[in-house]
Amino acid sequence: MTDAFETLAIHAGQEPDPLTGAVVPPIYQTSTYKQDGVGGLRSGYEYSRSANPTRTALEDCLAAIEGGVRGLAFASGLAAEDCLLRTVCRPGDHVLIPDDAYGGTYRLFARVLADWGLSHAVVPIGDITAVRERLATRPARVVWAETPTNPLLGVADIRALADTAHAAGALLVVDNTFASPYLQQPLALGADFVVHSTTKYLGGHSDVVGGAVIAADAQTAERIAYHQNATGAVAGPFDSWLTLRGIKTLAVRMDRHCANAMRIAGMLAEHLAVAEVLYPGLPTHAGHKTAAAQMRAFGGMVSFRHAAGEQAAVATCGRTRLFTLAESLGGVESLIEHPGRMTHASAAGSALEVPPDLVRLSVGIEDPDDLIADLRQAL
Ligand SMILES: *Cc1c(COP(=O)(O)O)cnc(C)c1O
Repeated sequence: MTDAFETLAIHAGQEPDPLTGAVVPPIYQTSTYKQDGVGGLRSGYEYSRSANPTRTALEDCLAAIEGGVRGLAFASGLAAEDCLLRTVCRPGDHVLIPDDAYGGTYRLFARVLADWGLSHAVVPIGDITAVRERLATRPARVVWAETPTNPLLGVADIRALADTAHAAGALLVVDNTFASPYLQQPLALGADFVVHSTTKYLGGHSDVVGGAVIAADAQTAERIAYHQNATGAVAGPFDSWLTLRGIKTLAVRMDRHCANAMRIAGMLAEHLAVAEVLYPGLPTHAGHKTAAAQMRAFGGMVSFRHAAGEQAAVATCGRTRLFTLAESLGGVESLIEHPGRMTHASAAGSALEVPPDLVRLSVGIEDPDDLIADLRQAL
């Protein structure tokens, strides 16, 4: 019998400590482990880059809540992406990347992995015909997808992408950071790997930076684990513990994030200072039907374009009282930012450049009336 999401989030990988009965997995703040005679490892632990019990608890929990065979926890989302790509790709390989994605992901492909010999082409990942045509022109090892995307909230049909990628001999990676596994489970829809910035909704409290890869097959997972140990960007014990604690409340937090975001999107859609609201929960959103089919709800991220242009968008970001002007997202507190000058500055001048009048909101779990009043006075 498999437990439901909410149950797995609290219990998976987290049996009470056999020695003391501690209900919460301890922070094993240790780099090394006593051996009972040379090679006599207790429970397989040898050195904390290779494995640490607090990290193991997190990795088992991540695998369970994404429906994968194995989870691997990293020092950041980008470390997870880098390790996955250098495990499944070889220099000379080609990858398809979205025309809208986290700026740091784009920078990793364009400025770091390009020098390692990994070439990329940019496609509108929500357009299956465009993806199929690209793959027919030039085979790719990996199709990289984000859905919903950061910061334009574009939606891609994961099952159709998986079928298209697999038919062309490519692997599908889904960055599930915006949705979280509570709202959407890409592996069940055919994706080969899920990556996360656990810094965001999984951690949920803006107090830890971390990343994860969750794999659908054990053999590749073993190779990623090998690379994780060989390159070493692992999550530390305290970071793993904070992330585990965050995951326990993911379901209840996401319900509230989604409800608040829906109300705010509705308010913005009627506001005269707003030219366009980007939120998959609105029936007018191009990806609404697909999102409704593959997601439990539409998430806590809302972007909008200011009707009066860039200066007005920047000024709005500086006038909120409750929405804190800051990068990042997914915490309990609401954040506001200007992607063009902040999170996505590294995409300037590229195919992934974002509109200058764009404002991005990470809607927190405060009282929705307070949040709406704050946005109204700022606009
Ligand atoms: C933040 C983010 C990342 C990068 O994660 P870090 O933990 O900052 O390294 C990757 N993808 C998305 C969608 C993000 O929002």
